[in-house]
Amino acid sequence: MTQLRIAILSVGDELVLGQIDDTNASWLARRIPALGVMAGERRTVGDDQASIARAIVELSRTHSAVVVTGGLGPTLDDLTREALADAIALASGESRAPLEEDPAGIAHLRKWFEEKGRVMPPLNRRQALRPPGTSLLANPNGTAPGIATWSSAPLCVFCLPGPPREMQPMFDAEVAPKIAVDGAVVLTAALHTVGLGESSLAAILGELMDRSRMPSVGTTAKAGIVTIRIRAEGNVIDAQRALDATVDVCRSRVSNIIFGRDEDTLESSVGALLLAYGATLATAESCTGGLVSARLTDVPGSSAWFKGGFVVYANERKMEDLGVPSSVLDEFGAVSHATAVALARGALRRTTSDYAISTTGVAGPTGGSLEKPVGTVFIAIADRARAEVCSRRFQMTGSRQTIRERSTVMALAALRNALLDNPLQSLLWAESERVHVEPL
Ligand code: AMP
Ligand code: MG
Repeated sequence: MTQLRIAILSVGDELVLGQIDDTNASWLARRIPALGVMAGERRTVGDDQASIARAIVELSRTHSAVVVTGGLGPTLDDLTREALADAIALASGESRAPLEEDPAGIAHLRKWFEEKGRVMPPLNRRQALRPPGTSLLANPNGTAPGIATWSSAPLCVFCLPGPPREMQPMFDAEVAPKIAVDGAVVLTAALHTVGLGESSLAAILGELMDRSRMPSVGTTAKAGIVTIRIRAEGNVIDAQRALDATVDVCRSRVSNIIFGRDEDTLESSVGALLLAYGATLATAESCTGGLVSARLTDVPGSSAWFKGGFVVYANERKMEDLGVPSSVLDEFGAVSHATAVALARGALRRTTSDYAISTTGVAGPTGGSLEKPVGTVFIAIADRARAEVCSRRFQMTGSRQTIRERSTVMALAALRNALLDNPLQSLLWAESERVHVEPL
């Protein structure tokens, strides 16, 4: 296992205030493990010299290097250069030295403006300043050079410009080669599951999730999809072997609910099944308003198995477009097993598809009743070969957006179960194990 850990420090008031997303930190956090080192702590501070200096010193105590982004601009709120000099003084116990102007930095700035046919504004001269004993990192994509302390200072810090299109190439060209560990890698695998909640899944994974285990196993959940994340470290051969072995153990425990790995999505996995069976699909969406179709058409090549669908929001559309009988709507209501079944049945009758998905529910915030509170959703799958329609009642919680997103995921999960010939397999938020099945 590698011992090196790299801290990521993001600088900028706009980040602390949530005005822009910290994409630099997430990019770096994904990039660093490929170099055989671990991304340790991530921290964000505003444009405040003392805060930046303190963060650099503190992170340096527990990490082998700190990568800082932001605060290298020419204006007075760009304080990373000054803060770095403060941090070096704090860490070394020596007196704070003034910044020095780097002749190569001045030459870079002059050339940059000259090539643009502009005169260098006096303020930009600040960008050639660096603490004594540090070196500048070339920036072919902007004015701000980076600063590295790795050669001589008591700290190992790399300061990179904030704009991602300048930061990313500079990290790859100037920082990555200096922090990479020969032959070492951090490899990760993600196994995506649908059907169980996070704690039920964790109970099955059991001791695999012990924090001291290597490779490590963890879970993350989003909209009904729980992802098992596995991480192995070491030389490339051992790490790959250990990763594969842990992936196999996880698979053996929960194989029926894993639908994909790494970049796979639930929609790409149902698409692959449909393609393999040479089958096609139609949708009849009420409460999801087209979200299921949108997810399906996110998959490249989806026209091979998804021919189209119906967004039938008002009752008149349910009746006219899909032949839902008015008696069904009157007797059971638009949010009911009977309507979900009639919608899926209608989508099969009006197309040549082999499968149909229907959704109907109360997404809220209004429209709930005692009998059908907000979050009541019915999802049906019609299967032409089985000559059967299967409807399930769900009780979801959350905002309108959350309920619609969860409904979309559960609709795709229900289809997956049908495609695997396992239509009665349990689903998260499904109200009881009772499934309402009718002939087509
Ligand atoms: P700075 O180097 O602090 O002058 O940053 C210049 C610009 O880079 C900012 O206005 C942002 O648009 C962008 N930027 C800075 N930090 C980040 C970050 N952590 N993630 C994404 N963009 C950033
Ligand atoms: Mg800034």
